Amino acid sequence: MRWLATIAALLLMPAATARGVEPASLLLKPDAVFDGVDGKVHPGWQVLVTGDRIVAVGPNLAVPAGAKPLDLAGTTLMPGMIEGHGHLFLHPYDETSWDDQVLHEPLALRTARAVANAKATLLAGFTSERDLGTEGAGYADVGLKAAIDQGIVPGPRLSVATRAIVALGAYGPKGFEPGVAIPQGAEEVSGVDQIVAAVRRQIAAGADWIKLYADYRWRPGEDSRATLSLDEMKAAVAAAHDAGRPVAVHAATAEGMRRAVAAGVDTIEHGYGGTPEIFAAMAAKGIALCTTLAASDATSRYRGWNGSDPAPAAVLLNRKSFRMAMAAGVPICMGGDVGVFAHGQNAREMELMAAAGMAPAKVLIAATSGNARWFHTSDKVGAVKPGLLADLIAVEGDPTADIRAVRHVRIVMKGGAIIPGEKAR
Ligand SMILES: [Zn+2]
Repeated sequence: MRWLATIAALLLMPAATARGVEPASLLLKPDAVFDGVDGKVHPGWQVLVTGDRIVAVGPNLAVPAGAKPLDLAGTTLMPGMIEGHGHLFLHPYDETSWDDQVLHEPLALRTARAVANAKATLLAGFTSERDLGTEGAGYADVGLKAAIDQGIVPGPRLSVATRAIVALGAYGPKGFEPGVAIPQGAEEVSGVDQIVAAVRRQIAAGADWIKLYADYRWRPGEDSRATLSLDEMKAAVAAAHDAGRPVAVHAATAEGMRRAVAAGVDTIEHGYGGTPEIFAAMAAKGIALCTTLAASDATSRYRGWNGSDPAPAAVLLNRKSFRMAMAAGVPICMGGDVGVFAHGQNAREMELMAAAGMAPAKVLIAATSGNARWFHTSDKVGAVKPGLLADLIAVEGDPTADIRAVRHVRIVMKGGAIIPGEKAR
């Protein structure tokens, strides 16, 4: 924690430098607090942080002598946000196509860019991120996570999925001479034994999550079809759960989603082809949906859409399935598939969720305590609550009145340390 620790020490003087010395405290004084759980903005509340933890929240706090006040007038203090579906090793497809990123960009270039992407994400107020696959960059996400955890580079707390797992021949890049082995964007498997081996290999290499592709296009231009069999997915889920790792599944088709639900996965990504029956089953089983509205929005814009109505079919379908899932009571994850669009613009998904009809307070809950719950990290992050890590952000104005307030981040605190950067004052 080299530079983070240094910053923390500067901000929280006198720091705990000797045995028996209490860690220093900081009293955050915003206009109001949104705790990430009850959906309300509480005017006049303050937050006391000691060391890396939140120790008290509310009005008229008993403040220890020596606590340093931090005036945050004009802001709402809320939990650091949690990106639910990112790819730090990808950059926008209108800059470089996905195929060219996977095939032509050296691993060192992709890793260097991921370091910059992680910093941009943190400065945008996202203090945690679930990264769902390096897309051809091997296990580099495990190293990036370690570099962040060791304080070598700034970034969100990462949960990583390493290479992800696809059915043999179903993923990409493709369209080359069939006799030539082409590097793929994920690990290919066929059969129960191979998928179990891949799950175990990835966990051993550092995967916190297992990511499966339940469906994909067999050839460019075709519609997606289910790929992994139900038996393969069940075996993968059993191997992952035995190791205490949850499973995220890319599923765009109804059949892919049905198999994922039947296999007992933890989250479903995209879900464009969901039906009321499938969403009811997800709600009953508590399987969260990451709708990735920003991904269909971004790719449609790359194809020439200017954002006005009528929206293209892919965007309409995404909005429709999102509304259907909400109506069915499916737990909603906030995850935009960031990487398809620029890192640091993660709030784009939240704006699109609100535009599609979710109340801003519910969008904020999805991005904080909701994602923490679906990702099994509620004991550490996702709420402004005593005992949790002090991952906090102060945003200008009231984000429950206008979700765009989350674009205006005045300070980002991670584990009690204020992150220096262009947006920090
Ligand atoms: Zn993705």
